[in-house]
Amino acid sequence: MHPNVTEIDHPLMKHKLTILRNAETTTDNFRRVVREIAAMMAYEVTRDLATELVPVTTPVADCEAPVISGKKLCLIAIMRAGNGMIDGMVELLPGARVGHIGLYRDPETLEAVEYYYKVPSDIDERQVILVDPMLATGNSASAALSRLKEDGVSSIKFVCLLAAPEGLETLAREHPDVPILTAAVDSHLNEHGYIVPGLGDAGDRLFGTR
Ligand code: URA
Repeated sequence: MHPNVTEIDHPLMKHKLTILRNAETTTDNFRRVVREIAAMMAYEVTRDLATELVPVTTPVADCEAPVISGKKLCLIAIMRAGNGMIDGMVELLPGARVGHIGLYRDPETLEAVEYYYKVPSDIDERQVILVDPMLATGNSASAALSRLKEDGVSSIKFVCLLAAPEGLETLAREHPDVPILTAAVDSHLNEHGYIVPGLGDAGDRLFGTR
């Protein structure tokens, strides 16, 4: 198992995740709840950001108070389902830059092939949070992490809604240095590559394409 996996253990998170799992949840509710969960995950994934004290004058007195310091943030969505989590995260992190990575699976080699890559030019100086709701086989996440490392990114975390043990194994093998934050670790992948019990196809449910 991956050496650095955090599963968020909070009743609000578990409750909202159950709404997403429910096949009866409508597209608009699904989208809204993903946004809410993503904001909570932004809160959790930034828990260890560095802070520094700055002078501030309150209506009552002068004091020193903490502000975020250190590397600037960049959120990177793995398209297309990752896009659904960006809005909620940006609500909490309005200054964060946002990049996108598009990957598809070559039907013959089964390798992840990049078809889109757009990130800030100073990506190597940023703390990157890579986002994809479903960590299934882990192949896309692993390819995206390798691509970001190729670009000089040294500080990366991966955020997902649901992780399958198979995906955690892939990242443990290929990217053990990357901390993973998930709302839940599910049972396994089925023969179609879906997480069980999961929530179905996150992209289709977010965008109403099925
Ligand atoms: N991608 C999804 O959207 N759902 C799964 O269950 C697995 C991969």
